[in-house]
Amino acid sequence: MDLIKRLNQQLQALDDQQLIRKRRTVNSPCGARVNVDGRELLAFCSNDYLGLANHRKIKLALQEGAAIYGVGSGASHLISGHVRAHAMLEERLAEFVGAHLEKPRAISFCTGYMANLAVITGLTAGDKEAEIFSEELNHASLIDGVRLSRVKAHVYPHADLQALEVLLKASHAATKVVVTDSVFSMDGNLAPLPQLLALCEQHNAWLVVDDAHGFGTLGDKGHGALEHFNLRSPYLVYMGTLGKAAGVGGAFIAAHETVIETLIQKARPYIFTTATPPALAHALLTSLDLLEGEEGATRRAQLQALVAQLDDGLRLERWQRLPSKTAIQPILIGDNAETMRAGAALYEQGLWIGAIRPPTVAPGTARLRVTLSAAHNSMDVAKLIGALNALERDMK
Ligand SMILES: *Cc1c(COP(=O)(O)O)cnc(C)c1O
Repeated sequence: MDLIKRLNQQLQALDDQQLIRKRRTVNSPCGARVNVDGRELLAFCSNDYLGLANHRKIKLALQEGAAIYGVGSGASHLISGHVRAHAMLEERLAEFVGAHLEKPRAISFCTGYMANLAVITGLTAGDKEAEIFSEELNHASLIDGVRLSRVKAHVYPHADLQALEVLLKASHAATKVVVTDSVFSMDGNLAPLPQLLALCEQHNAWLVVDDAHGFGTLGDKGHGALEHFNLRSPYLVYMGTLGKAAGVGGAFIAAHETVIETLIQKARPYIFTTATPPALAHALLTSLDLLEGEEGATRRAQLQALVAQLDDGLRLERWQRLPSKTAIQPILIGDNAETMRAGAALYEQGLWIGAIRPPTVAPGTARLRVTLSAAHNSMDVAKLIGALNALERDMK
């Protein structure tokens, strides 16, 4: 068949550029140590930042949720799939980040990818007087949301407040939407949210904050980037994911109640999909209790201690640890081939670390993306430090 042949040619072209990606099948729960092909690996690549993905209490809550609600929700939220567990979760999420918003309300989604499509299209699609201002290093789901909205969009350079200000000043749009990650996924640094918010307030623009990596990990209570920076504004539209630090899955938008009502009425990634199994929403209530409580605080402190240990211990010369204080700790290598070789060598030693190359990151900035988790202990991180220091020397 010609169609298959054509696809195979396209796959071969990817392979020729060494851009074929391979999945590895994991035979154990998510954790610091995972089993792959019968081997135990020390994993520094998950987004399970607080080690909750295999937490006993959340697993019990999931079982309990299945006992109460069964498995499937059976329909989309606007038909008959909006179950009490979803309603309770949304109320709880609105409280969780509500101190930073005005008239807070929350809406839950199956995934963060869908939440981002929903919030951007929901705020802008079909509005000829809307414009979007999107940060250069935004996550793919935000970029896709911008594309799907089909309104005029500007990409401003990374963390460049002046460039953004020039764009906002020049815009006559009635609806302006500035969109940014809070913690950049491939760099681990924070967006200048206080300054971005000031600009948005000054120019009457929404500030959509994707806090996928901050929710649960930033702030004393784990409430995320808005707590970390102590922000409060009616201009804020907050997106948090529930499959990273929260350890389960799904996502939510929290904002002024009118924004949320707009999403319920208009956002197609909300309307035209089956609601998540209610048992997941039920399990998330336990996860949120853990995040906010003493255990969350202890786990965040553990994570911060490991970040400090890595910072102290690495002795790199050619490679460069990016200046990040979050769980995302990239080691910039630059060259694609060297990065892939480094990743493979570490894997041989039983250390599983994501090797990231273009187009996920800019050309010439290939890197090892180390992610730390409260599930790791200091011996795990010492092993990582030793391996990275030695490997950099050996690969000269
Ligand atoms: C992971 C991630 C998402 C997508 O969330 P999912 O729940 O995995 O779909 C969105 N934005 C950022 C910055 C992310 O890192």
